[in-house]
Amino acid sequence: MDRRVVPGCDGRQEPVAERPPPTRRALVLNATFEPLGIVSTRRAVLLVLGTKAETVHATDRMVRSPRLHVPEPSVVRLIRYVAVPHHSRVAVNRRTVFARDGARCQYCGAVAENLDHVIPRSRGGPHSWENVVAACRRCNSRKEDRLPSEAGMVLRSTPVAPRHRVQLLALSGAIDASWTTYLGELRELAPAVAS
Ligand SMILES: [Zn+2]
Repeated sequence: MDRRVVPGCDGRQEPVAERPPPTRRALVLNATFEPLGIVSTRRAVLLVLGTKAETVHATDRMVRSPRLHVPEPSVVRLIRYVAVPHHSRVAVNRRTVFARDGARCQYCGAVAENLDHVIPRSRGGPHSWENVVAACRRCNSRKEDRLPSEAGMVLRSTPVAPRHRVQLLALSGAIDASWTTYLGELRELAPAVAS
């Protein structure tokens, strides 16, 4: 493979592929095989090397560094069971809200381009799952700093925090085929983003 060496941001020399691949992600399963989270491939490798996790699925790529040459994990399983806080929340950002809302404007159903605060921030609206929706540019500018009722607009559904945390995180980026076995509810969510 054609490789070159470029300095990392911390000044260390790190070998990289000629064209750096997009950030790859791995699914982390609890010891019980329950999906727990999504991490970078790099983090997954560290979990495996630190004997905190074992590789369940690997891609046909290799993770390479000066001292390392291991198959790239796509699914890892923690060796020890980790209790998950029941209401641990997913960060509210463009990727996660678009995943929840199927990248559709929650006022008109068009392709969403922005996030909209239902109660505008200027009027004390929080940046929360219950107050942030995906919106198209047209609805966004039409609404301005008004409540939907003041702008004569109606939300298609009441925004709520996602119940399927890991599934939503999976949908907020590229999904590896090897994950689907473990993401039971993914199929329920998937049609919402099929567009
Ligand atoms: Zn719209």
